[in-house]
Amino acid sequence: MKTYFAKQLFDGQKMHTNMHMSVNNGKISHIETSQKSQFTADAQLNGLVCAGFIDTQVNGGGGVLFNYEQSPTALSKMMQGHAKFGTTAMLPTLITDSPDKMFKAANAVADAIAESIPGIVGIHYEGPHLSQAKKGIHPSSHVRTVSDSDLATFTRPDIGKVLVTLAPENVPNDVIKDLVKQGVVVSLGHSGATIDQALAAIDAGATCSTHLFNAMSGLTAREPGLISAALSDARIFSGLIADLHHVHPQNCMLAYQCIGAERLMLVTDAMAHVGSDLQTLPWLDSTITKVGGKLILDDGSLAGSCLDMTSAVRNMLHLLQVRVSVSSSTSILANVLNMASRVPAKLLGLSRYGELALGNRADFVLLDNNIHTQACWINGKQVSGVVAEESQQREQN
Ligand SMILES: [Zn+2]
Repeated sequence: MKTYFAKQLFDGQKMHTNMHMSVNNGKISHIETSQKSQFTADAQLNGLVCAGFIDTQVNGGGGVLFNYEQSPTALSKMMQGHAKFGTTAMLPTLITDSPDKMFKAANAVADAIAESIPGIVGIHYEGPHLSQAKKGIHPSSHVRTVSDSDLATFTRPDIGKVLVTLAPENVPNDVIKDLVKQGVVVSLGHSGATIDQALAAIDAGATCSTHLFNAMSGLTAREPGLISAALSDARIFSGLIADLHHVHPQNCMLAYQCIGAERLMLVTDAMAHVGSDLQTLPWLDSTITKVGGKLILDDGSLAGSCLDMTSAVRNMLHLLQVRVSVSSSTSILANVLNMASRVPAKLLGLSRYGELALGNRADFVLLDNNIHTQACWINGKQVSGVVAEESQQREQN
């Protein structure tokens, strides 16, 4: 067992000071405000402790792109790249590819889960059933309609939580219904859907929109499209790439005001560059190059991101603190932290994740005052950062 003292701790519901947390067998075995005048702890966490970040859209990290390498080792490198920035659980995300690549990706995730590689909780198939017109950087040759082979891959029982991004105009609603029935989380994206198509897919059980505003039908007076469905329908969550390049800050605000902190979720859409020194990466007949805070193809268009979850939290926090008038900045901080942890846990149905509570997984992050990740723990084991572990006597008034 290990005990921690946290100067400040957000448990997913409330902000606390001077908290004592014990971890046993990867779970939180004790958590409360310390009433004692003196106590010991194995480690003192001087900063803000919160639930680990859960990223549902990770194409790569640590120098690895999932589409190029499908193995438990590759997934472990991706996790290590992102754990530096507080991510404690992720869905490795396969960009539209061949049935064979989809199968290999599933095998890699199944092996990673069987080997208990920290942080791999499932898989996100972004495609292949997308709109050709809204495909973005997805290879046109692999964008296709649904096949039995694809459905068999999506519904494998050994690959954890499965999220599938699809364009509803390219997939029959009965297929969506069937996927949802089998436990797949369906997210609408890379789509030119009309509002009627979007709402019918939500009726069929779709519960999310993928990278809201990017690669989806826009919002005009008489053609509301997928954006309007995401902003107005209380049945669906939305992922948002808050790197301030993919989505204008005003639209990040709009999403927050319309969707709220119970269903708006921060995602990175990160490529291999995050958590590595990588600058360029070949992609189809082009190159993805890191320029400033963004990744671009040779023609200048965006190609995924080099965003990490801590930066996404920090960006959103700064944006909301400046622009939203609410009574307490603590509530904004709480909301943004939840958008990176509790909300994705809820979307995926990960019941022991996303909140620091008795019996929950000991996945947590230590942030400094400027919202930079100092260290993080997965399943009770420290996986990034340095924190003094020696037993210390602490005094409290
Ligand atoms: Zn995408």
